[in-house]
Amino acid sequence: MACGCDDCETMMQPYLDGVLSDEEVREAREHLSRCPGCDRRYRFEEDLRRFVRVAAEEPMPDELRERLVGLRSAQGGVQPPAV
Ligand SMILES: [Zn+2]
Repeated sequence: MACGCDDCETMMQPYLDGVLSDEEVREAREHLSRCPGCDRRYRFEEDLRRFVRVAAEEPMPDELRERLVGLRSAQGGVQPPAV
């Protein structure tokens, strides 16, 4: 059985980065449609990237940051400000 998972592995990052040629993307997709293991990995990586991108693009709201700072100082016995 010629899965080509090693190729798949090296292709994953550029695939997700969107830097593969059309031909290579087609090959990667074809492989994913036949290989549940790789398909799952790709999906996982894709979700992970989407999550990381969202987290990076949306800075923590000031309100949340202040609350976190409050919680941290609360460990020293100081009550966090009531909201
Ligand atoms: Zn595979």
